[in-house]
Amino acid sequence: MVWFTEYQTENVGLTIRAKEVKTIKSKYQEIIVLDTQEFGKVLVLDGAIQTTEKDEFMYHEMLVHPALVKHPNPQRVLIIGGGDGGSVREALKHKTVEEVHLCEIDEEVIFVSEKYFPSISSKLRDPKVKIFIEDGNHFLEERKNYYDVIIMDSSDPIGPAEVLFQEKFYKKVKESLKENGIMVAQTESPFLQEEYFKNAVKEIKKVFKYVGIYTGFVPTYPAGMWSYTIASDDINVLENVNEEKLEEIETRYLDKELYKSLFAIPKFVKELVNE
Ligand code: SAM
Repeated sequence: MVWFTEYQTENVGLTIRAKEVKTIKSKYQEIIVLDTQEFGKVLVLDGAIQTTEKDEFMYHEMLVHPALVKHPNPQRVLIIGGGDGGSVREALKHKTVEEVHLCEIDEEVIFVSEKYFPSISSKLRDPKVKIFIEDGNHFLEERKNYYDVIIMDSSDPIGPAEVLFQEKFYKKVKESLKENGIMVAQTESPFLQEEYFKNAVKEIKKVFKYVGIYTGFVPTYPAGMWSYTIASDDINVLENVNEEKLEEIETRYLDKELYKSLFAIPKFVKELVNE
């Protein structure tokens, strides 16, 4: 047994005891797989927990479903990052979805997920899924006016993911969306990563007409409190419509009641983005 600590900030850490630790070095990052009592298998990239078998549903459902529910007829979906496969699995639950493109910079993350996280990566080889091993920033340049929904399932805004949180990149996202297109991004912890959060929202607001921020609980992410930012130029994403679509899919976190109050977020979070 070994204790693994993720340093979430300079002064705060989350420590989990692991029965086994595997370390793999890829071209881009250090990948660690922990086998733990409490959270099952845990995927760690460059020291930061990305997903765990126990709480991944909380993050993946909240990231993926609101955008797919709000879009009137989502057929083509792009996921940037997300090499573990959890967002792909959730997107495929929507029966209108015909094509899911996954653009992941590091193919090793996909291999590791397929080997150690079968319940998360289960749909990566579905015939509707096409995997591109590319940098999301360049990938979009060749695909204008193509997707109905773009999901930003990236790591923290440092290293290769830094560009994915900037205005220039969100402009490319907008150009790659079709009419009525919606994008959603994981935008970090409003409690422990205040600057990352505020900055991501500020950059998204520069580009899109309608922008909504919602929060959710993910125990292994910094402070356990996570944020998501959804945006569109054509659809007023602030209206929580089409809730009946949620009854057609299997979920464990997001249901109709929670969806109806999606934007009922803590006051301090609203204040951070309205500053
Ligand atoms: N759920 C996670 C979180 O918020 O902690 C994110 C999970 S997912 C594993 C993040 C993925 O984004 C990583 O596998 C990483 O390799 C990928 N990534 C980072 N920068 C990227 C880029 N520029 N283009 C495509 N994928 C990128």
